[in-house]
Amino acid sequence: MPLSPALRDQILAAVDAGFDEQIAYTRKLVSFASQRGEEFAIQDFIARDLAARGMKIDRFDMDEAALTAHEGGAPFSAQHSRAPIVVGIHHPKAETGRSLILQHHLDVVPVGPRDMWEHDPYGGEIEGDWMFGRGAGDMKAGAAANVFALQALRRIGLQPAATVYLQSVVEEESTGNGALQTFLRGYTAEAALIPEPMDEQLTRANVGVLWFEVEVRGFPTHVREMGAGTNAIDAAQRVIGALREIEARWNAEAGDHPEVAGIDHPINMNIGLIEGGDWGSSVPAWCRFQVRISIYAGQKAQDKYAEIRAHIEDFSRRDRFLNQNPPVLRQNGFNAEGYVLPEGSEAEAVLGAAHQAAFGAALTSGFSGAYLDARVYALYARIPVLNYGPKSRAVHGFDEAVSLSSVRQVTKAMALFIADWCGTESV
Ligand code: ZN
Repeated sequence: MPLSPALRDQILAAVDAGFDEQIAYTRKLVSFASQRGEEFAIQDFIARDLAARGMKIDRFDMDEAALTAHEGGAPFSAQHSRAPIVVGIHHPKAETGRSLILQHHLDVVPVGPRDMWEHDPYGGEIEGDWMFGRGAGDMKAGAAANVFALQALRRIGLQPAATVYLQSVVEEESTGNGALQTFLRGYTAEAALIPEPMDEQLTRANVGVLWFEVEVRGFPTHVREMGAGTNAIDAAQRVIGALREIEARWNAEAGDHPEVAGIDHPINMNIGLIEGGDWGSSVPAWCRFQVRISIYAGQKAQDKYAEIRAHIEDFSRRDRFLNQNPPVLRQNGFNAEGYVLPEGSEAEAVLGAAHQAAFGAALTSGFSGAYLDARVYALYARIPVLNYGPKSRAVHGFDEAVSLSSVRQVTKAMALFIADWCGTESV
């Protein structure tokens, strides 16, 4: 049932009334350097905070055996986080509305060279409408919005009239295993909302993502005898060239995938990290590099990985050095499929009305070329998942920032969505 105009106005005013506190909370989240494997303190903070707000807390570890046995689970490399997953649980007095998962991730990517930042990466400095910091956009502002959308209802003496699970996960930037663990733990609901920085749009479709490492080994010699030794760095460059052929081939198939219509170059391959060699005058005997490549929604991650392996094997057979020293491929992260959100769900209609009330404009939807935890809810829990959040800048880059006016509007839309989807009851 649509919200009454009076309740709607009360909720909008409640978000405004709590917004200074919400900004301070976002800043606090940004102050935690919660890079991969270092999310213990921030997960402790959120667990204590949600408990103080009256939620029951379920805190659990990621289960390597269960995750790697699942088709969407990713292998555990040595860098895999051991930080816990935290779920805050709200049960109403009377369950009359529709249940909901509010999800966010608190892991962030590395900051890179500090001298390339103008702002302190963990300072949460505010300049005009923008808050700066690693994770400000992706997605600590969204995490705070999850908490403060619920808090807005509480401020006017209300709470959701349905079960709400507030899921705080890690490993979103590397495997997606945190979100998958919440599903394996048994959590599901009638819809899920994830406030990733989506420029105030709803995600209609995204890509799947594969991560793997490639290692090339030769044998070392002095550069004066270079012809005799395999230069592993040169060889690695040729393997990268072969991988670029796959990227080009997959992009040429875009026409078979209607969800990417109008998107230029939907499949992106990134060589994100490279290391190799030991000395300027020694022919490098080894080189390792890290690859991230996307796949189309509907494609099986393992099929596409097998295609990559076959192409590299074939290429190596025709290469004088590589056929003696075949490159070794190891999957060390994302093994994730993409999803398409079907149009016309009730959840989307309710979010559309909430967005209209908060922004005075219709909700639009778009494509995301990045991995999203939303895939777990779409593909395995099989529930409508609304990936929708604020405007941001330089996510994964230098001087990452989030628009505070956008966060305020999105939080309003989220609070209205929760009130309408779950219904409300007095606290
Ligand atoms: Zn994110």
